[in-house]
Amino acid sequence: MGLIVQKFGGTSVGSVEKIRNVAVCVKEETERGNNVVVVVSAMGKSTDTLVNLAKEISAQPNKREMDMLLTTGEQVTIALLSMAINQQGLEAVSFTGWQAGITTEPIHGNARISNINTTAIERQLTAGKVVIVAGFQGVTEDGEITTLGRGGSDTTAVALAAALDADKCDIYTDVTGVFTTDPRYVKSARKLLSVSYDEMLELANLGAGVLHPRAVEFAKNYQVRVEVRSSIEKIEGTVIEEEAAMEQNLVVRGVAFEDEITKVTVLGLANSLTSLATIFTTLAQNQINVDIIIQSTTEGGTANLSFSIQTLELLETLKVLEDNKTELGYDQIDAENKLAKVSIVGSGMISNPGVAAKMFAVLAENQIQIKMVSTSEIKVSAVVEEKNMLKAVEALHEAFELANN
Ligand code: ASP
Ligand code: MG
Repeated sequence: MGLIVQKFGGTSVGSVEKIRNVAVCVKEETERGNNVVVVVSAMGKSTDTLVNLAKEISAQPNKREMDMLLTTGEQVTIALLSMAINQQGLEAVSFTGWQAGITTEPIHGNARISNINTTAIERQLTAGKVVIVAGFQGVTEDGEITTLGRGGSDTTAVALAAALDADKCDIYTDVTGVFTTDPRYVKSARKLLSVSYDEMLELANLGAGVLHPRAVEFAKNYQVRVEVRSSIEKIEGTVIEEEAAMEQNLVVRGVAFEDEITKVTVLGLANSLTSLATIFTTLAQNQINVDIIIQSTTEGGTANLSFSIQTLELLETLKVLEDNKTELGYDQIDAENKLAKVSIVGSGMISNPGVAAKMFAVLAENQIQIKMVSTSEIKVSAVVEEKNMLKAVEALHEAFELANN
């Protein structure tokens, strides 16, 4: 008998009708002779609704209470799904994060899972029950309820699959798999049959949106076989595994993109040696995610520093820099808004020089100016003006032969 962890996202449990569908899907898995642990998100957009309620009360709600509020969303789904599974003639039991033994670090809003004690889940599985676990939540050692960051139910599912040594983790969602680029924007986008953990990690971090980045980290670290698939269409999805089959020997496997990027430039840093460390430590302490970083020295011996952030975090970034102006010792700050990041990803890049050159040539041919660049072994990202984002994506998707024939 195998053990399968199934995860259903918000759209897949968005109504009573859809919850019934999920119950059928769970039943089918048990009929294949498997034990099933189900992880669910809050129904539809209900997490957003809860966030908005909080905002009506306070511009900066208390983070502990925010977690208390948001975790109720998943709690609704687990109970309803348990009832729906009962209707299918199966025994089920629902668990909140703490009941499922999920301990996290003591951070509200974006906690990492630190440990999972699977005793309670295993006891119920042994008793022949389907176990339903609320995604996106855990508890600290001190008994405080925490959340794992938006989209964190994926992480709950993969972490449980790792802890339970499950045979597979199926992520059921409203798309049929991982695509070469976002099919909502690029009609010729194609579904990939498999991607490697590293490729998926890059894609997830680049905002491909199908999987929470930390879920991919877990999958990679514990070698969990993950499949992203549709909860409606019963077709093969995309398998995420160590070595993805090199479909058509593609060097580039996907084009990811993200808008609302801002480039912040700190001009005239007096002592670039220490201020660089101070700036990024200070930003990190304030939970501001910095992406691409470029430093250049000027003739006068001072340094200019540019980095990209999400536009959403601009106000806070400026405040942090202003508050620490004396300590950091700079002249001035500039911010350029309305930028976007376009990235190409593929493990094949490691052994194929010239991929970045080709990317820049394609962008140049299309008169798209590049503002910043960053690379990793399997990724090249370029920051461009937001208005050029989709043009760049389409041109790259075409040039690297990712399109449907
Ligand atoms: N309900 C949470 C959210 O909307 C967690 C999740 O869906 O993964 O972010
Ligand atoms: Mg999600």
